[in-house]
Amino acid sequence: MRRLRTDILILGSGGAGLFAALHAQAANPSLSITIAVKGLLGKCGCTRMVQGGYNAALAAGDSVERHFMDTIEGGKWLPDQDLAWTLVTGAIERIHELENEIGCFFDRNPDGTIHQKAFAGQTFDRTVHKGDLTGIEIINRLAEQVWARGIARLEEHRALEFILTADGDALAGVLLVDMRDGEYVLVEAQAVLLATGGGPTMYRFHTPSGDKSCDGMAMALSAGLPLRDMEMVQFHPTGLLAGAHTRMTGTVLEEGLRGAGGYLLDGRGERFMLSHDPRGERATRDIVSRAIYAEMRAGRTTPNGGVWLSMAHLGADSVRSQFKGMVERCADCGFDLAGGRVEVVPPAHYMMGGVEFAADCTTALRGLFVAGEDSGGVHGANRLGGNGVANSTVFGAIAGDAMAAWVGREGSFRAADARAVKAAIERAERPFHTGEASDLEEIRERLHTTMWDDAGIERAGGALDALARQLRGYAMPSAARDRAFNMTWHDWLNLGNLVSVSEAIVAAAVARENSRGAHFRADFPEPGELSASTFTRVRKVADVLAVDEVPVRFTRVRPGESLLTT
Ligand SMILES: Cc1cc2nc3c(=O)[nH]c(=O)nc-3n(C[C@H](O)[C@H](O)[C@H](O)COP(=O)(O)OP(=O)(O)OC[C@H]3O[C@@H](n4cnc5c(N)ncnc54)[C@H](O)[C@@H]3O)c2cc1C
Repeated sequence: MRRLRTDILILGSGGAGLFAALHAQAANPSLSITIAVKGLLGKCGCTRMVQGGYNAALAAGDSVERHFMDTIEGGKWLPDQDLAWTLVTGAIERIHELENEIGCFFDRNPDGTIHQKAFAGQTFDRTVHKGDLTGIEIINRLAEQVWARGIARLEEHRALEFILTADGDALAGVLLVDMRDGEYVLVEAQAVLLATGGGPTMYRFHTPSGDKSCDGMAMALSAGLPLRDMEMVQFHPTGLLAGAHTRMTGTVLEEGLRGAGGYLLDGRGERFMLSHDPRGERATRDIVSRAIYAEMRAGRTTPNGGVWLSMAHLGADSVRSQFKGMVERCADCGFDLAGGRVEVVPPAHYMMGGVEFAADCTTALRGLFVAGEDSGGVHGANRLGGNGVANSTVFGAIAGDAMAAWVGREGSFRAADARAVKAAIERAERPFHTGEASDLEEIRERLHTTMWDDAGIERAGGALDALARQLRGYAMPSAARDRAFNMTWHDWLNLGNLVSVSEAIVAAAVARENSRGAHFRADFPEPGELSASTFTRVRKVADVLAVDEVPVRFTRVRPGESLLTT
């Protein structure tokens, strides 16, 4: 095992990780900062995949109060209001920083102001974008800044477990594995940022990048940290359905298509949304996803088992000019979006839940900070489109500032518990030494089926114990035991984390006996009293999940009230 030391260790290089690195370095250039990432810096994670854009209340007529109320009402009164306020105020600063210091170009109006487009669930057009490739612009420019500043990088390094001090009182470092040679690396750090970006890839259909498998959330659960809102998994209504053989299945077809007047048709070619909601296809993400799922359950499906998205009635030329990127993406899979119909399915898209944290990104574990999709509490029961990348960049920047200040004030290197390191390595080594060979593909298939059928858009409970046991007993075939880029090993690690976080999702979903936002239970279809709202808190105690229901504190506005005067 190699050992390294760095003042600040950042896990993940999405919007949260890169912003944190830049801010920490600007706050104190004498600190050593290291970014460890499972993929290649600038090329992995979901921030790069952002299509639609970034919400910020910039325009005349809009306000942070309006953005805040949209976020709270969209989140069905479950968001932590102080976190949501930090999000909406910080988003304006970050957009200016992205343009003026980081070098991003966003689309502009003829008068030179930033162009902002409409996104569902918002009362003002506030989504800043660069065409429909906003994430690439943001990540490329951020990565250039990181490369230029001598921030250390551990690429293709996968974080495995947090290593605490012997008394369990604080974080001492993180055990990683260098995926290129399979060697373990213990990185001791004064402060660590968890920014691995969640990623609900345990569902059969999903949108996030393939490197994401809820690793950070699983690490936090094993370290006994509390996670909130885990039952709140957002499904995007329209993911491309191009068959099981291609990773293009799940690719998001943006909301603007329905916003522009696109129809959803069942397998017989009939519109069905108007029987679910008077807004038809323009209803919110949760309602449209559930309606599609109902059609699928009733068997009224397309050849691949989804429904049709149809734009042809709007005129092929007009669709082609408005949605160039989408039309090309569909054409790659043999579909004519402009003049024909495209098969779609609602894929799992985003996790509103995550590690509980304060507005300065501190967590219950001394030395550990969290930002981005690994964190919970900003969005409550639903995330507005455009608030995801705002969340990761706003809190990433705060985490960078906060970690630099914390290291200066009270940081120190703390001795890692040697027994904990040994035990973590033994857990990771399991498939090399013990157990019986079984088929990881078959385990993944069962996980996908369990989560899609029993803990997906509709909730009915489900058991994952057998999968966890089977994974613990898994042995790698001897021919596949070379450690360099051993994808079978990493698949096994990914699946272990996905099963662990799936258990937390199911535990929280069973505990919530009402339906709010992304969480719907046929046996408890009502939202419950808003003024008595609670959020779920899941934690692992002695390897068993415990769920508490914690009252939401309405620190700025109560249900029925508004911060808006008009
Ligand atoms: C297709 C798609 C479109 C989207 N469009 C929008 C949009 O228009 N607007 C919006 O606001 N949001 C959008 N989102 C959501 C948005 O992308 C995310 O909310 C946000 O970018 C998450 O940022 P992050 O920094 O937390 O994580 P990410 O950007 O996902 O970065 C996570 C990083 O952690 C690394 N990592 C993972 N596991 C480990 C490990 N074990 N060890 C080390 N590193 C690890 C990954 O490799 C990656 O570098 C979209 C998401 C998807 C999937």
